[in-house]
Amino acid sequence: MATWFRKDGRFWGVVVDAMATPDEDIIAIIGSRIELTKRGSRYTGRCPFHKDTIPSLFVNPKTQYFLCFGCRAEGGASEFLRLWKANHESGNA
Ligand SMILES: [Zn+2]
Repeated sequence: MATWFRKDGRFWGVVVDAMATPDEDIIAIIGSRIELTKRGSRYTGRCPFHKDTIPSLFVNPKTQYFLCFGCRAEGGASEFLRLWKANHESGNA
């Protein structure tokens, strides 16, 4: 974050660092929100988008793709973040 002042010394504005880049690793993005367990070449976790009792969310770090066998949610990191926002910021937890 940087604070900017005009030449006359008056406060001009604040520049906030950009949010996570879209090409950030999907394991880091999903792993920071739900618990992921490494299984072979993939990661599994309990899906945050439906009532998951067994880990049915699979994340493939090679393809940067996630897929839930319970509710069929799937996509890349940006899609996960979109669903996460829709599920966690709508007010009905
Ligand atoms: Zn699901």
